[in-house]
Amino acid sequence: MQLLTKLSPKKYDVVIVGGGIVGLASAYAAVKKGLSVALVERESQNKDASVRNFGFVTVSGQQRGEHWQRAMHTRDVWADIAPKAGIDVEHSGLHMLMQRPEAMEVAEAFLQTEMGESCRLLTQSEIVENVPYLKKGLGVLYSPHELRVESKTAIGKLANWLNQVYGVDFYNKTTVHSIELPMVHTSRGTLHAEHCVVCPGTDLHSLYPVTLAKAKAKLCTLNMMRVMPKKAFKLNAAVMSDLSFARYDGFAQLPEARGLINLLDDIQSAERKAGVHLIVVQSADGSLIIGDSHDYSDRELPFRDVRIDDLITNEFDQMMNIGESDITQHWLGVYPSGDDVVFKASPEKGVVVGTITSGTGASTGFAFGEELIHLVLESK
Ligand SMILES: Cc1cc2nc3c(=O)[nH]c(=O)nc-3n(C[C@H](O)[C@H](O)[C@H](O)COP(=O)(O)OP(=O)(O)OC[C@H]3O[C@@H](n4cnc5c(N)ncnc54)[C@H](O)[C@@H]3O)c2cc1C
Repeated sequence: MQLLTKLSPKKYDVVIVGGGIVGLASAYAAVKKGLSVALVERESQNKDASVRNFGFVTVSGQQRGEHWQRAMHTRDVWADIAPKAGIDVEHSGLHMLMQRPEAMEVAEAFLQTEMGESCRLLTQSEIVENVPYLKKGLGVLYSPHELRVESKTAIGKLANWLNQVYGVDFYNKTTVHSIELPMVHTSRGTLHAEHCVVCPGTDLHSLYPVTLAKAKAKLCTLNMMRVMPKKAFKLNAAVMSDLSFARYDGFAQLPEARGLINLLDDIQSAERKAGVHLIVVQSADGSLIIGDSHDYSDRELPFRDVRIDDLITNEFDQMMNIGESDITQHWLGVYPSGDDVVFKASPEKGVVVGTITSGTGASTGFAFGEELIHLVLESK
């Protein structure tokens, strides 16, 4: 990708601040409308939530209504552009192993909703054939909607594709300090733009802090790890557990989830307090990303509590039957968590700020990017 260090004197239709998935998705929405776009990223490339995540484009489990629709649309955009941008879809779909009758009750209620269309319970023979690596449970809910991309490379490939095919100018290692349209003041000088879309991720203090404070967001820190099984096997779809039914709004907000939530609060209280549930996805080299936990604070937490990792690996061992494995990587990730699932606002004419406040940007980012571009064009 051609990275620009000298700022162009041209006036862009839109300058985007932030090279995470939300900034890139906004850039894509803008170029699809025929607008000229520059994207400014303060790092040499994104190193935050957009590359630390599972790359799990999740539909089933997203909050019912508008957010679930965002996820359906975002999944379609990923499916369309991934091959064009050279991004591999590592696997598709989701298997949720149910180990308690209360979880079965949630799954059955979910299947009765519009969100459950095309989802189903696997038959016994399908369980034996499709998910031999899952431990014995009461049933497996299958959702066909999901995709998994390798975020740590997908974000760079997406940026490269936007640059090469759509002519988006990328100014990396460049920080935006302030915006006074048509001027966007950066650490390298001034860019000129008709509109500006700020996608700062967790940085809620640098640009438009008063507006972003309305998101009432805390920072949520997650423990993540990569595991390499000693014996190779192929994961046929992402995996989640009973704890996930109790965490993800699309399940947990169903009235039928109350029994499961109460039960888990009782029998897995440590996991529930640490916000632990299980997601397992696989990379091309056979390794698995497993997580996660949720620790809410006013600031980014620098220290990893290994006891939380133990809760995650314990849940993994309760769910998966893959023999011995080695943990090869640990990392923390952070996202803003607010009152609502997303936050968007126009602090002044021609400027919009937007951040996803529910840890679902890989799943809903493309739909959200379209909303931000729509809002900024309206705000003039
Ligand atoms: C551990 C973890 C696992 C997750 N798993 C999933 C998952 O599997 N599926 C899912 O849907 N979601 C997941 N999420 C959530 C998802 O990753 C986020 O919602 C999404 O990445 C947010 O994207 P973003 O672009 O808003 O933020 P970020 O990725 O934080 O990017 C913001 C960018 O803006 C730049 N920036 C900020 N201010 C400025 C400035 N003034 N000038 C220039 N640049 C600036 C930053 O450098 C950064 O690159 C996960 C999150 C975490 C932390």
